[in-house]
Amino acid sequence: MQALQNQLDQENIISKAYYDIIIVGGGCAGLSLAYHISKEETLSDLKIMIIEPDDKTDNDKTWCFWTDKPFPFESEVSGKWKKIAFLSDEMQKTFDLGKFSYFKIDSIDFYRKVRNALAECEHVSIVNEKVIDIKAVGDETVLVHTESGCFRGGKVFDSAIGKGWIEPLKDQYNVLLQHFEGWKIKTSAPTFDPEVMQMFDFRIPQNNEVRFVYLIPSSTTEALVEFTVFSTDLLGESAYKKQLQSYITKRLNLSEFTILEKESGVIPMTDVPLKQQEQGVPVYYIGTKGGMCKPSTGYAFLRIQRDCKLIVSALVRHQGIGQLRRLPKRFKLYDALMLDIMKRDGGRIASIFTTLFRENQITTLLRFLDEQTNFWEELKIMASVPSAPFMKSIVRLVTRTLKKGKW
Ligand SMILES: Cc1cc2nc3c(=O)[nH]c(=O)nc-3n(C[C@H](O)[C@H](O)[C@H](O)COP(=O)(O)OP(=O)(O)OC[C@H]3O[C@@H](n4cnc5c(N)ncnc54)[C@H](O)[C@@H]3O)c2cc1C
Repeated sequence: MQALQNQLDQENIISKAYYDIIIVGGGCAGLSLAYHISKEETLSDLKIMIIEPDDKTDNDKTWCFWTDKPFPFESEVSGKWKKIAFLSDEMQKTFDLGKFSYFKIDSIDFYRKVRNALAECEHVSIVNEKVIDIKAVGDETVLVHTESGCFRGGKVFDSAIGKGWIEPLKDQYNVLLQHFEGWKIKTSAPTFDPEVMQMFDFRIPQNNEVRFVYLIPSSTTEALVEFTVFSTDLLGESAYKKQLQSYITKRLNLSEFTILEKESGVIPMTDVPLKQQEQGVPVYYIGTKGGMCKPSTGYAFLRIQRDCKLIVSALVRHQGIGQLRRLPKRFKLYDALMLDIMKRDGGRIASIFTTLFRENQITTLLRFLDEQTNFWEELKIMASVPSAPFMKSIVRLVTRTLKKGKW
């Protein structure tokens, strides 16, 4: 106890305040967690601090996902589709999603909603600062250092990732980047079908990587057109522009259009077994840092919401947070296999995805990609695709595991 006191005395602890929970990073995961906790009456005595350097006034992301169930932030939805299009050289098909819908939330609406709601909660504070270090002192206190001082917390949930955080693991695991640039364009004549969201158009040169164009129409004259690549390295800045320009003029046949907004981003896709908790201390990782980006697709929004709900139920029940948060192991294996093929032989993915979409019911496929299927459904899906590339990846992953002595 005295040792802890001595250490605390040495640190510059801002206002000496103690927070039950400190959330590092107020982006999707950090704000979602704070929001879910704030909605739980039995947790209203917890003092919460969110540390985030950005004021979050830009629409920096568009979050899309599909579901057939109610979900948090439904009132922030800015687009909803009941049909999706899949386009490749071998198949061009529009699928009716049945009981599913594909949704879009603009991050700016989410940030505004959550920050306004949290401003009403006396027990939640947000500071505009950058965290530079997180240090556990004993098993019940964590010191979170920022550039101006140090906060003391009982539990820390960390979602802050610095540049290159995943680089050191590139040699041991498969690490791919999902990188993209999207333009929200406006045309003078009706061009888009606002009823159909285009999930994949693989009809562009693949360059032995995974490349497709994603298109989200908001009306007959406005759409977000996004050129997306899954590969180990980013492209040069001008390459994204060139590909978008070519797709819009040649494939969409548009000689004139106005760019209303631009979006770009990089999502890490990896089978690195990301830790959800620092061993033996109350520092937990959430969001992308906690492995919530699905390795084979990069979708994370709904996974983050589910994870936050699990954390909240663990807090309510005073239960171990780690026990409730475990992700199903078999999906990790499927993701690792897919990722391995994407990295080794990306040019085959268009054809594998075509088979998946052609041979399976769209609703089963969507449930599979959202990790909601049972093992028998998964076996049927696997039986529908050519086995050779998967066998090769199984051999590679088994060899890797044997060499490392662990998964
Ligand atoms: C452009 C883009 C589009 C995406 N689209 C989709 C989509 O359509 N559907 C989907 O499901 N997923 C999507 N994703 C993936 C995923 O949902 C998002 O990346 C999501 O924002 C992840 O949440 P997060 O909280 O982990 O990270 P973020 O939302 O990025 O939040 C991390 C926060 O940490 C802060 N931070 C960084 N360093 C520090 C520090 N030192 N101290 C304190 N704070 C710090 C950052 O400012 C940031 O606010 C997209 C990702 C990107 C990049």
